[in-house]
Amino acid sequence: MTTQSKSRKTKDECQCRMLERMSQEPGSSVTYLPELNEYRVDKSWVMRFCPGCGKPLPPSRRASRFAHVSNRESSRIMKLFRGITTEQEVLARFGPPDAEDYPGVMVSSLEDDELPQRGEVFKTLEYRELSDVANIIFRIGDNGQARGTWPAKHCGEPPIKDDTAPSS
Ligand SMILES: [Zn+2]
Repeated sequence: MTTQSKSRKTKDECQCRMLERMSQEPGSSVTYLPELNEYRVDKSWVMRFCPGCGKPLPPSRRASRFAHVSNRESSRIMKLFRGITTEQEVLARFGPPDAEDYPGVMVSSLEDDELPQRGEVFKTLEYRELSDVANIIFRIGDNGQARGTWPAKHCGEPPIKDDTAPSS
């Protein structure tokens, strides 16, 4: 069994530039996304290894597309949530949300020692102006119970354009 070290040296990465050439061919199924430093097949499958030399490709810059939520900002957000347990309390404190979705989130859990496999659906209320680095999203259960979450915002680069979506 071989183990891969997390900090790969650059010399172990692909240097043959085969994908670079392929992506420049007209009509090629290989595309390069400079904002993520990723090569994709048919615009959806991310390539991790070079088909020419078999070596790993440089890691994508996916993680850096999101803002960093500091511990300090997280505790500030948690204070905003204080005392809120229901949808009515969310609306009373923050007003109408920027977006409301149903089903906003689906959560499925695998069977464990205590409980069988199960799924849950939540309505979501999203507020985008309460934090510079995170969107505040409340998950609302069927019983009206609210749970606050704060996923980091996209930053900088535009979202990936989906050319495969049907035009309306
Ligand atoms: Zn290569």
